[in-house]
Amino acid sequence: MTIIADSLQVIQENILNASTMASGQQNVTLLAVSKAQAAEKIREAYDAGQICFGENYLQEAITKQSLLEDCNIEWHFIGPIQSNKTALIAKHFDWVHSVDRLKVVNRLAAARTNDMPPLNLCIQINSSDEASKSGISVQDVQHVAKAITQLPTLKLRGIMAIPAPTLNIETQHAQFKKVNDIFMQLKKDGFDIDTLSIGMSNDYVAAIQEGATIVRIGSAIFGARQ
Ligand SMILES: *Cc1c(COP(=O)(O)O)cnc(C)c1O
Repeated sequence: MTIIADSLQVIQENILNASTMASGQQNVTLLAVSKAQAAEKIREAYDAGQICFGENYLQEAITKQSLLEDCNIEWHFIGPIQSNKTALIAKHFDWVHSVDRLKVVNRLAAARTNDMPPLNLCIQINSSDEASKSGISVQDVQHVAKAITQLPTLKLRGIMAIPAPTLNIETQHAQFKKVNDIFMQLKKDGFDIDTLSIGMSNDYVAAIQEGATIVRIGSAIFGARQ
């Protein structure tokens, strides 16, 4: 077994254990974050059974996608979005996790063509409301969610967040719980959503225990980035 295949297996076991301990016993999808990793490493993970891959940088992603055309990969865009890149993002990805403003919503909707399935979207939440961090504030999330549901080429799936990294387990739980509260409130308000995208290499166990349905894991699978 290769190192990547071995890491994937260990992480899948941890995910399964964490989700059995979580109250909701939810299904959790592992998104392998392959930014700054070579296409051969993605292929190695794919050959070990990994299907969903996350990329942050458009040009890098498109280059690797063309090298991996023969693989049936589900591609997720998780990086900051420049509005002049929306057309290519809409064309090259199945999911976008990092939607952080209405302008991006409208441009993705216009660029996604009718011959493709609706583009799956998560709204990136700025759960700590720090001015420096990207993401939509808690107050604005309803408005953006409603706009997405009115656009037929888009499918609102849920919310995504990147809380401040910390190795303190209690703080991890507190931060993720805050995001889950927003997710639950949206559901209560009638939005048909199923995705809570939280948790990375250092905090995915806490994220799952707080309700994550997608964890985005890079370095724990592929090792340090170049
Ligand atoms: C890089 C990145 C990850 C993965 O981070 P690791 O700590 O390597 O697991 C997850 N989500 C986003 C948005 C990222 O940019």
